[in-house]
Amino acid sequence: MNSKRFRWSADLPDYLNDVPEIVRAYAPYIVLSPEADEELNLTVRQERDCFLVGISVGKKIVREEKLAIAYEEGLLYKKLTKRFCKNALHDWCKEITGVELPYGSLTGVRPTKLYYELMQNNGNPEEVLRDTFFVSPDRARLIAEVVANQSGYYDTDPHSADIFVNIPFCATRCRYCSFISSELSQVRKKIPAYIAAVREELSAILKKIKEENLFVRAVYVGGGTPTSLEADELKSILEPVAQARPGVEFTVEAGRPDSFSREKLEMLASMGVTRISINPQTFKARTLCELGRAHTPEQVYLAFSLSREFGFDINMDLIAGLPGEDFEDFSDSLKKTLSLRPENITIHTLSIKRGAVFRNDGMEKNVQGIVKKCVDFARAELKSAGYLPYYMYRQKNMADNLENVGYCLPGKQCLYNIDYMEETTTVLSAGAGAMSKYVHKDENRIERLPNAKGLDDYLAKKGV
Ligand code: SF4
Repeated sequence: MNSKRFRWSADLPDYLNDVPEIVRAYAPYIVLSPEADEELNLTVRQERDCFLVGISVGKKIVREEKLAIAYEEGLLYKKLTKRFCKNALHDWCKEITGVELPYGSLTGVRPTKLYYELMQNNGNPEEVLRDTFFVSPDRARLIAEVVANQSGYYDTDPHSADIFVNIPFCATRCRYCSFISSELSQVRKKIPAYIAAVREELSAILKKIKEENLFVRAVYVGGGTPTSLEADELKSILEPVAQARPGVEFTVEAGRPDSFSREKLEMLASMGVTRISINPQTFKARTLCELGRAHTPEQVYLAFSLSREFGFDINMDLIAGLPGEDFEDFSDSLKKTLSLRPENITIHTLSIKRGAVFRNDGMEKNVQGIVKKCVDFARAELKSAGYLPYYMYRQKNMADNLENVGYCLPGKQCLYNIDYMEETTTVLSAGAGAMSKYVHKDENRIERLPNAKGLDDYLAKKGV
């Protein structure tokens, strides 16, 4: 495939700065690179009663469009003009490549959040997604189905809060990983200090919850691989959160099946954990080895049957588009996952972000094309096995421009996943790289407070 390469150039107001994302969504058909010979330029101009957009390549104007709009400041004006710029670029990219993106000119992470906004306008949101954002009919349907399956689980309580704890350690680092997770053997000596710092943060969080009379909906301990810690280390972190609201949805991402033991599962059960994840990603041994995951498919089965003894709800993640895998590999992994019948199955589309080891070694180029077939197959198979799509999100650099979708058996929706994706609920977070979010529902505003990202910075800020 011959990519068209351009140097991006535009002098845009701040609120339009993410407009070139729609051009980036056309990678690998269109690539924006500072080294490209040709310049792709976007100009925007406001006149008395209209907003003008011009696209040019080199000195040649290739598209000009006009939106009749009276000049005004404000959120609606910004939203409309931003949409207009993205649509103009989308139409031009589609014209020169002949490629139709499944999500049209939508580039955001949360398509369902937009759907909820559109619902408030009394129109038909699915129709608006198709006609205004050029979302394909099957993706518009998926978004509508996800929203429908959140009914009864979507949070409207202004006093609710979730607690998140980040444990950014793993036994080894997967090659596609872009999280801040450290290999445990490299940071062993710092674990006691980390536990002390997180416990201190959690006691401040619990105090806040009490003082502000907040209602805890869910607790989520993620990473990293929290179960890569020893049972007593992890217990020290879980003890404070276990008191937050006994009986509440309480997830621990066990993740890597090589991190399981009976002792750890017993401890999780004794702390009131209700839900864990065991993530195969694939059942193909060779791929696991190439990904640097250091566990076998057999260990997934062992971890699953051991966990079932404790009655946890179980989530399993699969990734479509793993390097070196074809449709048969993915469908085999899906079949094996379905045979275990976990309560939740999450189908991820491979996204290679900055920070992943194999971003630059060419592996990502192998994955284009089959991914849509895989995720569409998964959607149909999961539906016929009785699973419902109930949350979704998108990321940059996703293969075939698709999405990640969480499926569940009826009644097994994970509240934390819905709250986090729809941004309906305050999330109070502890740990390195964690981000607290305060949702001010009455003001339609979200305040974000990030913790220090790296382990050393975090420990230094906490004074340990
Ligand atoms: S298990 Fe997850 S967090 Fe840990 S290295 Fe692999 S992808 Fe990264």
